[in-house]
Amino acid sequence: MTIETDILVVGAGPTGLFAAYYAGFRGLRVAVLDSLPEPGGQVNAMYPEKLIHDVAGFPAVRGRDLVASLLDQAAAFSPTYLLGQEAASLANGTDGRLHVTTGSGEEVVAKAIVLAGGIGTFTPRPLPVGENWVGRGVEYFVPQPADYAGLDVVVVGGGDSAVDWCLALQPVAKSVRLVHRRDAFRAHGSSVGRARELDIEFLTPYTVSALHGNGSLEAVEITRVKPRDDVRRLDCQAVVAALGFTADLGPLESWGVEMVDRHIVVDSRMATNVPRVYAAGDITEYPGKVRLIAVGFGEAATAVNNAAVAIDPESALFPGHSTDAAAA
Ligand SMILES: Cc1cc2nc3c(=O)[nH]c(=O)nc-3n(C[C@H](O)[C@H](O)[C@H](O)COP(=O)(O)OP(=O)(O)OC[C@H]3O[C@@H](n4cnc5c(N)ncnc54)[C@H](O)[C@@H]3O)c2cc1C
Repeated sequence: MTIETDILVVGAGPTGLFAAYYAGFRGLRVAVLDSLPEPGGQVNAMYPEKLIHDVAGFPAVRGRDLVASLLDQAAAFSPTYLLGQEAASLANGTDGRLHVTTGSGEEVVAKAIVLAGGIGTFTPRPLPVGENWVGRGVEYFVPQPADYAGLDVVVVGGGDSAVDWCLALQPVAKSVRLVHRRDAFRAHGSSVGRARELDIEFLTPYTVSALHGNGSLEAVEITRVKPRDDVRRLDCQAVVAALGFTADLGPLESWGVEMVDRHIVVDSRMATNVPRVYAAGDITEYPGKVRLIAVGFGEAATAVNNAAVAIDPESALFPGHSTDAAAA
């Protein structure tokens, strides 16, 4: 299938979602591509339940709520979302447009591209014995804690995500148990302390050694680490494997954009060295670069407005004020 658009945004993290809004605000058609099945980038993948305190205008906003608001804001312009698909290759078409092929073979033809790929594509670290159970009881994300209402849940991992999922699921699930292979946790001490005060059973040092069920998940088997002298069966209907992610810029490194230390070099227009390819957010590099959500928002606006001029040299760089547009 071929999708034609004015601007293709690669990456549906906070920067990419705001770029999608901005492209729509400029009257441009926009498609957003992300290798993850859910939008939200690092925020959704790593800390959806955490409060963010340094997004302008929000004294505190939960990661999940920020992503929902960004999606709402962009929705007015109906972006085309292509989720669960990696941007694999870039070619210049004979039609003067940019042709991007996705990992699943779809083609997106765009007049300009904004690369908002952050630290690259995230792949969840797999639960070694759980691969066959993904989607049948084992998940790497918790899109909606409410989906776990009344379930016995086992969360696996020792980082912030694992403990945060426990805290988010405890009020809705029937039971929550945390299995970690070490006694010590990488997660913040305060989060671990809160989880210990709640009705969450900590099982350390244990690893998940088998999963059981007939079609759907019914139990996990856990084995004590060093000495492996204790094997237990935990009845559960859901496992959240929060073992972290690996990040890989992968194919973007072969697109001909100038890179330094795994980041894309941009100028003050957020332009890369490849014509009509812009970049914004964590993926960019320039003197004085600061990797924060607030910075990515500004870069997204700069990238899209400059891309708009590259697409139509007659159009103004300054987009006008959104207050005027809303009043029109
Ligand atoms: C634990 C933690 C706490 C943080 N707290 C804060 C905070 O309090 N305040 C703050 O400002 N920042 C914070 N940050 C940093 C903040 O999350 C990042 O600055 C922000 O997410 C960058 O947004 P982005 O959209 O540029 O990139 P990302 O959020 O990384 O999103 C990039 C997206 O691009 C996708 N992608 C990459 N390559 C491809 C490809 N080839 N094809 C398709 N998709 C691709 C990825 O899958 C990803 O979804 C925190 C980060 C972490 C990890």
